[in-house]
Amino acid sequence: LSSFISRSSSSSSRLSDFVDAKTELQDIYHDMSTYISGFLTLIEDNVLLKDLEMLEQLRIFASKVEAIEKVLLRNRMKVAFFGRTSNGKSAVINALLHEKILPSAMGHTTSCFCQVQANGSDEAEHVKIEQEEQHLELSALNELASAHSPRALKPRTLLQVNMPRSRCPLLDYDVVLMDTPGVDVTAQLDDCLDNYCMDADVFILVLNAESTVSRVEKQFFKEVASKLSRPNLFILNNRWDVASNQEPEMEHLVKDQHMERCLRLLIDELGVYSNEEQARKRIYHVSALEALQLRNGCNRNPTTQTQERYLEFQRFENDFSNCLAESALRTKFGQHLLSAQEMLTQLEATLISPLIVKVSQLMKENRERRTDLYREMGDRERQIEGRSEALEMRFQELSELTIGVGQCVLK
Ligand code: GDP
Repeated sequence: LSSFISRSSSSSSRLSDFVDAKTELQDIYHDMSTYISGFLTLIEDNVLLKDLEMLEQLRIFASKVEAIEKVLLRNRMKVAFFGRTSNGKSAVINALLHEKILPSAMGHTTSCFCQVQANGSDEAEHVKIEQEEQHLELSALNELASAHSPRALKPRTLLQVNMPRSRCPLLDYDVVLMDTPGVDVTAQLDDCLDNYCMDADVFILVLNAESTVSRVEKQFFKEVASKLSRPNLFILNNRWDVASNQEPEMEHLVKDQHMERCLRLLIDELGVYSNEEQARKRIYHVSALEALQLRNGCNRNPTTQTQERYLEFQRFENDFSNCLAESALRTKFGQHLLSAQEMLTQLEATLISPLIVKVSQLMKENRERRTDLYREMGDRERQIEGRSEALEMRFQELSELTIGVGQCVLK
């Protein structure tokens, strides 16, 4: 059973590509920052190289690199979950996290936007209302996020659920999961939708397989699709355990009907996929509750049907993880990689090359000065040599003269 359940982690390979790419880009920007600050010090400290225009340019590059380094640090993959209240959005998130973190119960309704994410390196699990400093216990989540509680937060609030990285593999791969109030509420919160959800890499529409997709859900997704060009959209027909058990002999028929309606929604009404084959791969029939029960050890004897539904849940998890990593790699890092290349080319053309010319000019000038000096020294040497020769001759003349004088005196 455990190997059957753990096969779900196969989805992690593409997610680790995102983490690896992030580390690599961070290294590139860190190197660029060191490189630029090295040049800044060189120019600032050297009177001969000082060039105010160059200094200004380098400072602009340095602050741009610093800003991108901060953005890179914050970059994570984001998945947003939508659907009518009680369709099982929180249950799907819990199943993906392998444990019941978000309140998910009959009658419970998530009242606000709820973001589950990995926390800072040493922090303990906690809940935090965005814009507020206070760290609250995880148990406060029930009251804060439940629409029926007196302490319920306003729908516009963003509640952050911070978990240690090691606790859930998905969070360790820098994935952020955004639970939303039911679509009927969310549809009224256009600004929140823009602020909290539109930067998601993947959107998951959680439907209730016991009923058909509602007009509100369709309308809501039309709005989402109109704001984004071809969002990555997945449809989960959740509570399939209940729906398929209602009339087991009709299971295939009901499934086909769901499939057809979802295909029409994705292709004709939302226009997010152009062909049926593509769209069909984005539609799943699952039971989030069963997936969670298998993962947290509450169900040790799954039936064949439960196992089949779990395999479908794993297929969903694998597909959306791949899509998430691919999309996030392109949208989050593509631009920063281009920026790094552009900055290096600009640095090379407008700063480094002229600087190298300047330095080599200075060296050449130095060399010329040295040759002059040698020449001057040579002249002086020759002068000295000439003088000493003359002196020697005079000395000889003098000694000859002396000898001559001495001989004269002796005579
Ligand atoms: P949300 O309002 O969309 O976040 O829905 P919840 O996750 O709170 O789920 C509402 C209720 O449906 C809870 O009692 C869940 O345990 C239950 N539930 C969610 N998913 C499933 C499922 O796949 N099968 C069954 N049988 N119950 C589910």
